[in-house]
Parts: sequence; structure tokens; C-alpha cells
Amino acid sequence: MTEPLQPDNSKKILVIEDEESIWSLVKNYLEREGFKVEVATEGRQGLEMARQHRPDLVILDLMLPGMDGLEVCRILRGESSVYILMLTARTDEVDRVVGLTMGADDYVTKPFSPRELVARVKAALRRQQLDSVQPAPAQTTPPLPLEPAHLDFGNLHIEPDARKVWVNKQLLDLTRTEFDLLMTLAATPNWVFSREKLLEIVWGYDFFGDERVVDVHIGQLRKKIEATGGGQPVKTVWGVGYRFEPIPVTTSSTNQNEK
Ligand code: CA
Repeated sequence: MTEPLQPDNSKKILVIEDEESIWSLVKNYLEREGFKVEVATEGRQGLEMARQHRPDLVILDLMLPGMDGLEVCRILRGESSVYILMLTARTDEVDRVVGLTMGADDYVTKPFSPRELVARVKAALRRQQLDSVQPAPAQTTPPLPLEPAHLDFGNLHIEPDARKVWVNKQLLDLTRTEFDLLMTLAATPNWVFSREKLLEIVWGYDFFGDERVVDVHIGQLRKKIEATGGGQPVKTVWGVGYRFEPIPVTTSSTNQNEK
């Protein structure tokens, strides 16, 4: 597929976590990889540091003294599109974390393996690097499958370069992850993608990652599409995954709530 980019380990990572045993471990592992790591042990302080230092990625604990992780995530997401990796204590918090904040890109459940955390950080940064790569002048290998200036599927319109999506003539306010998911599905209409495959393509994970995070982000994406009243092109394939079914153009606006 794509050529792996050289990892840019001068990337800045902000860790917002009050438990010293955890932040020192995480800091250690990330610094060993060459990342620049800063630590905030309180929510408000973390938010201030994020504003000042503009990290490339934020590792954010859910339970923090003072302003909690959800609030920090919500505010931060309102201000920037920085990749946010949440640390949660329990798996059953996932829906709440990703759903409520509508902004965390991924989460890791405690206790976690530091090696896995580092691998996720690297995958996320690699993905960001890919996102920000401008169409390169004549390469030996072509860029990903042909990406035309825009894609039209009935009343759904995508401009990949601008990373913008319109449904029913309404511009969707999508997070980076939601856009990547939609783009991946829409690039091969009607193809069924397993959750595992989506984790691999969108998150860059080969062998880890919780498939539920895919469901939560798909859920958010669908909600935003549904809110336009323009139909639902993202279909669930039970027991398998998801596929994109172009919305047929109709003269009267239909409002199906198909799952
Ligand atoms: Ca904590």
C-alpha cells in the first residue's frame, strides 16, 4: 500500500495524567522513542499547556482532579483538531468517553501495555503525517487510489483535498476520524469493510485496537449525516462491519432511518 513515512520523532506529546506512576512510565517510554513529552497533572493546567505548546498529540486521562478529562477533551476539541488519546479505567466507559466528548480519537483502557500505547501514538502521528501530505509532484508510485477533486454520490458530496463533506447541501462538521472513516468507505462503494480493516486503514493499527471504537465513531458520523435529513449511506452489515451505499437521488426528499 502506502510507503511508510519516516517517523518524525521530534513530535510533541502532552500527557495529562495525575497519577505519577502512570505519567512517568508513559513519559519514559515515549522519550525513549525520541518524542518530546510534557506532563500536566491537572486538567486546567493541561488545557493551558495544550494551548501554549500546541502538541501534536494529547494523552488525556479521564479521571483528573479539578477539571476532569471529559471537560478538557470537550474544550480542547472545540479549539483544535489535535489527536486526543484518552486513558480510561474501564472498557464500559468507552461509549461515554468518545460519545460525550465527541472528540477523542481513540482510547486506551487501564491497565495498558506501554508498548501498545507507544505503538498507537506512532500510528496516530503517522496517520496525521499522511493527512497533511500534499499531493506530491510526480512520484514513482501513484498516491492512494485515484482521488478526484470531488466525489458525488447522490446528495452526498465529498471534497477529499479540502476534507469537506456535504449532505443535502449542508456542510457536515466532521472530526478527522469521522472524515477518514467516511472517505475510506466511500472510496469503494458497497464494499464491506470489517471493523478490523477500518482500524487498520483509519487508525493505522495492525494488530491491536478495540473494534468498539469504530462503532462509536461510525455512530457519531451517522448521527451527523442523519441530521441533514438526506438519508443514510453508511450501512451496518451485521456481524461483519460497514459499507457505503450511495444515496439515490430522489426528487422528493426521503428520510429513511435505516440501520
Ligand atoms: Ca487519574
